[in-house]
Amino acid sequence: MSKPCIICVAITGSLPTKENNPAVPVTVAEQVESTHEAFEAGATICHAHVRNEDQSPSSDPEKFARLKEGLEKHCPGMIIQFSTGGRSGAGKARGGMLPLKPDMASLSVGSNNFPTRVYENPPELVDWLAAEMRTYSIKPEIEAFDLSHIHQAAAMNRDGRIPGRLYVQFVMGVKNAMPVDKDVFDYYIKTVERLVPDVEWCAAGIGRHQLTINEWSIAAGGHTRTGLEDNIRLDKDRLAPSNAALVKRAVELCEKYGRPIADWKMAREILQIPLKAA
Ligand SMILES: [Zn+2]
Repeated sequence: MSKPCIICVAITGSLPTKENNPAVPVTVAEQVESTHEAFEAGATICHAHVRNEDQSPSSDPEKFARLKEGLEKHCPGMIIQFSTGGRSGAGKARGGMLPLKPDMASLSVGSNNFPTRVYENPPELVDWLAAEMRTYSIKPEIEAFDLSHIHQAAAMNRDGRIPGRLYVQFVMGVKNAMPVDKDVFDYYIKTVERLVPDVEWCAAGIGRHQLTINEWSIAAGGHTRTGLEDNIRLDKDRLAPSNAALVKRAVELCEKYGRPIADWKMAREILQIPLKAA
């Protein structure tokens, strides 16, 4: 049997609003409901940001705490991943929710350009975030926006700053960063598997490229990410009605390529994330 595929759903992000797509979950209650549907559809990692009342991005640990509580109650076993991305706070505020001990947190290990600004990840901040994740037994998901980020993650894995099985996500299609390019995608896989033989990897495509990257990663034996954070449309004419609808597309691709969907137990085993005592 071929290898199970872990589907991650990035439910909200820090950019899309209800004006862009009314299905984007913004309040904690909406986030829990949307994640529950996505979990039932086959997603086993929830990648989450939180928002303020006015939909602007927030790094408020109290909101993260309520979200974690709701997800643990309504999606038992699901892997909860908080974003430490740079749009919802600056400097150490980006890791202010890590003492809540989510299963995972995203970690960027290098800088690059974003559509309208520099995505700054200075070495000192990267090391501090990684140390906090070690302190609270949180598994990092490395967000690789560039080839150099893969090398840096491998180095941090070797020297113990990122212990355990490395999990790397290739992010493609962010304007001004790495575009969706199949040769680069193939080289990312070749490189990460050469540097870290027991690595697990995942990939995410932004906007209209989401489905393309879902297909490439599923076909190549990786894991995949979908959700309204990265893409709000089913196609050029239709908005996605829910996060679950996007998860279903990934599930269909897994069927097409003969990949079983990892349930939460398999996903935790593959990523070496034990269930934490509440
Ligand atoms: Zn995110």
